[in-house]
Amino acid sequence: MAASCARVNRDPSEVTLVAVSKGKTEAAIVEAAAAGIQHFGENRVEEGMQKIETVNASVDRPVTWHMVGHVQSRKAKHVVPNFDVIQSVDSLRLATRLARFARLEERELRVMLEINVSGEASKYGFEGYNWYRNGEVRERLWQDVRDIVTLSPLRVIGLMTMAPYNAEEETIREVFAELRSLRQELTRSLTIDLPELSMGMTNDYPIAIEEGATLVRIGRAIFGERQA
Ligand SMILES: *Cc1c(COP(=O)(O)O)cnc(C)c1O
Repeated sequence: MAASCARVNRDPSEVTLVAVSKGKTEAAIVEAAAAGIQHFGENRVEEGMQKIETVNASVDRPVTWHMVGHVQSRKAKHVVPNFDVIQSVDSLRLATRLARFARLEERELRVMLEINVSGEASKYGFEGYNWYRNGEVRERLWQDVRDIVTLSPLRVIGLMTMAPYNAEEETIREVFAELRSLRQELTRSLTIDLPELSMGMTNDYPIAIEEGATLVRIGRAIFGERQA
């Protein structure tokens, strides 16, 4: 990560490592926390809830938990009390329910909007393919973002995306650059603040950092390959 920052003259402190611990044991997470990792990401609600309780009880310093996987609206109730940041908000319906449960708990909830910039049908996220050329996509996206930023006590802190897997470097770079310019456009035209850009995984985090990522979500490069 530091080497990637150096290539584009960024200060490494601008990029936060989120260790994606899905499929890994609590012991492995505690070990990673002891080695200094402060942010962890999980992609399944039930798996995350169980592990969070155990890990939180065993670490010396509190860690921050990120939900990075698709959350069904009916599970919003369980995400709110367990996770600190929901990176994968992909619908107005989910955002509305998260806001409702956060309000009941009287806490602010940090969220990010997942944007499907690559346009792959297999990916979750707000439709963002070609957002800068396609007026309809843009209109829908802008409307959703406008609605979501008014949902107290949610605090929308940024955008998240996933690049296509095994694509050419140029294609991956383009997806990340398009998320960054989307952030810029939204910030400017809606006068909102979106400080975070979550992009980059084991295969493509150097490109993501070069394109402005402030959070990278790394699983395999830290914990090793996952069992299928
Ligand atoms: C699994 C996962 C990651 C990490 O992927 P690796 O290839 O293991 O680094 C990052 N983001 C999301 C949303 C994931 O589901």
